[in-house]
Amino acid sequence: MNPCRILILMSDTGGGHRASAQALQAAFAARYPDRFQVEIVDLWTDYTPWPINQMPYLYSPIIARVLWFWKLLWAVFENERAFSAALRLVYLISRNELRKVLQAPRPHLIISVHPFMQHIFMRLLEHEDAAIPFMTVVTDLASFHHGWFHARAGRCFVASEPAAATARRHGLHAGQVRLLGLPVRPPFAGALPEKETARARLGLIETAFTVLLLGGGEGMGPVAATAHAVARRLAATGKAAQLVVICGRNERLRQSLQQSDWPIPVQVCGFVDNMQEWMAASDCVITKAGPGTIAEALICGLPILLSGFIPGQEEGNVSFVVDNGVGAYRDSPEDIAATVSNWVDGSQRAHMSARARELARPRAAYDIVDEIVELLDGEAVEE
Ligand code: UDP
Repeated sequence: MNPCRILILMSDTGGGHRASAQALQAAFAARYPDRFQVEIVDLWTDYTPWPINQMPYLYSPIIARVLWFWKLLWAVFENERAFSAALRLVYLISRNELRKVLQAPRPHLIISVHPFMQHIFMRLLEHEDAAIPFMTVVTDLASFHHGWFHARAGRCFVASEPAAATARRHGLHAGQVRLLGLPVRPPFAGALPEKETARARLGLIETAFTVLLLGGGEGMGPVAATAHAVARRLAATGKAAQLVVICGRNERLRQSLQQSDWPIPVQVCGFVDNMQEWMAASDCVITKAGPGTIAEALICGLPILLSGFIPGQEEGNVSFVVDNGVGAYRDSPEDIAATVSNWVDGSQRAHMSARARELARPRAAYDIVDEIVELLDGEAVEE
């Protein structure tokens, strides 16, 4: 029997959408080997014509260099009519390309992990008269663009109560909305290595207080200034401490940090594929308020020091972390360094760490996939 074909629609705006798509793909493969053929489709880049297909490439430079423009775009697209008009235009221009997604072998199920896919794809399904179930997996924790929510989605999987409430406010009924957590990649769902084991494997000092510093998949924000401030402060405590900086796809940042002099041991990495090991090896994480990184840090029981957020989609994550007692927010490298040096003493971290583990949902990807398969088997996808 041919495997059932599933498409996961995403776009590489940040690292989180792809990470969640990969998590679902891996969960299908692990739970139902050979039964599904799951493909990750970058709809925006691969199925829209020029110049629309170039837009995702502008995301990182805009966020990094002209944040005011992102705030403006976000404000405009918060307006449902403006958003819907813009997507209608994209759809009209891209319809011929988009149709190719539905070409043989026709998919049996579409899953979206991106807020800009719902309205475009629902329109396509309607115009092509294609009765293919469509489901959404919301990969944001606390701030939600309304594009995530479409009343005709068969299911909308969310990761928090506020997300469920927002979905219902946008016309989804209670049965359509399922709170199962944010899908993280399978290594986070299994047994994580002990701290000392992970440190030894990664070439870190086994007994030193270890700070992990990140800026999302793209290495965004004042990572360099923060790294230097934190290293100086940790050195001043006189305690054994080390810093790991993961620069993601930001090559310039990696090169500049690798050429720097440091007062404590510092490991600088580019994009890593074993984030679970780096987190397992660490005592706390400093990161921008990316939902993927926050969900992973919770699983690893890491206190989270937020160093910034992308206006719009990440704003609510700051209160999520602070109000839930799993970390703090500081907006300058010096304040971040001062706070993290207070965390060297383990007593401050114990409570945050325990609370993080309570909130964690390491098996979210499996739970979502199991429910999807149950629905497919029962053909109970409601409209
Ligand atoms: N990530 C990774 N390797 C890296 C840097 C980041 O696998 O070197 C992953 C990280 O573990 C997380 C995702 O990229 O799953 C970043 O997602 P998040 O939502 O935190 O931020 P975004 O990059 O989407 O703004």
